[in-house]
Amino acid sequence: MKPLLGAALCLWFGSVLAMESIAVGPHSYYVKGGSGPVSAGNRGFNSNAGFVITSDGVVVFDALGTPALGKELIAEIRRRTSQPIRLLILSHYHADHIYGAEAFRAAGAKVWAHREGQGYLHSDLAQQRLQERQGVLKRWIPSGFKLLEPDRWLEADETFEFGGVRFALRHIGPAHSPEDLALTVQPDGVLFAGDLLFEGRIPFLGDAESRVWLAALDHLQADGVKQLVPGHGLAFADAGDSIDLTRRYLQDLRAKMRDAVQQMESFDSAYAKTNWGQWAKLPAFEAANRGNAYTVYLEMERESLQATP
Ligand SMILES: [Zn+2]
Repeated sequence: MKPLLGAALCLWFGSVLAMESIAVGPHSYYVKGGSGPVSAGNRGFNSNAGFVITSDGVVVFDALGTPALGKELIAEIRRRTSQPIRLLILSHYHADHIYGAEAFRAAGAKVWAHREGQGYLHSDLAQQRLQERQGVLKRWIPSGFKLLEPDRWLEADETFEFGGVRFALRHIGPAHSPEDLALTVQPDGVLFAGDLLFEGRIPFLGDAESRVWLAALDHLQADGVKQLVPGHGLAFADAGDSIDLTRRYLQDLRAKMRDAVQQMESFDSAYAKTNWGQWAKLPAFEAANRGNAYTVYLEMERESLQATP
C-alpha cells in the first residue's frame, strides 16, 4: 500500500481538525475527515468529500456530515477557485455524507443521487439517525434540520462533461448501501468511491450485505484509475491495494461469523470468544465492529438456511 506521502494534511489546530483540500489529480481534490466515529470533538468531520475544478464550474462528490461542514467545504473550494459550484453528487444517503448538502443548493448547485436512496430518505431509520446526530452534534445540526431531496434521482449510469473534463458516474450498489455511486474523473484517472471503500479504520456495515459488497468491489476498478479516494481515510495510488482493507475485513468477518453459526453458537457468546486481533487496533473498532459482526452473523444465518435443502 502506498499512501500519498505528504497527503495527510488534516492538521490539528488545538482540538479542531482543520479542513484542508488535498490534490489527487490536475482537476481533482478531496478533504479527509478524522478516522474515529462522529463526535463533538471532531464536529462530525469524520468522512471525506471530493471536488473537481473545471473551466466550466465545480463538481462536488459528497457534502459531509453537518450543514456547518457543508459551508466549510464550500469555503475550502473557494480557496482553490472562484468557478461556480454546478453539481453536487451524493454517493449515498448516510448522515456523514449528506447533511451538508443544503449549503451547496444555496450556492446554486444541482444535487444528484441514485434513486435507490429514496427508501432511506423517508424511512424511520433516517429520522432515528438524525435524532442521534442532533444529540451528539447539537451545536452544528439545528433542530429544524431536514434531509434534502435531490434535484434529480439517477436511474442509470451516466457520463457527462464540464469544461472539457469527462466524468463517469456508476451505480455500484447494492453494496455498502443500495444506492452507492462511484465517480471517475477520466482525464485525472481519479475514482471517488464513497463508502464502498474505507481506509485506516473499521468499515461501517449498517444493513449492508457483505456478500454483495464483496462482489461489488470486483466491479469497482475501472480502466485508467490511478488515484482512489475512499469515503473514509487516505487516498491511495494503487487501486488494487486500496481495496484491500475493506475486502480483507469483510472476508474475515464472514469467516468468523460463519463458524459461529455453523457451531450454533449465540452471537453474544461468539463475539466475546472471537480474537479480533489486527482489527481491534484500528480506529472505530469499538464504535462499529460489534454492530458489523451482528449484521454479518444474521447474514450467515440466512445463507446457511438457504444452503439447507
Ligand atoms: Zn456510509
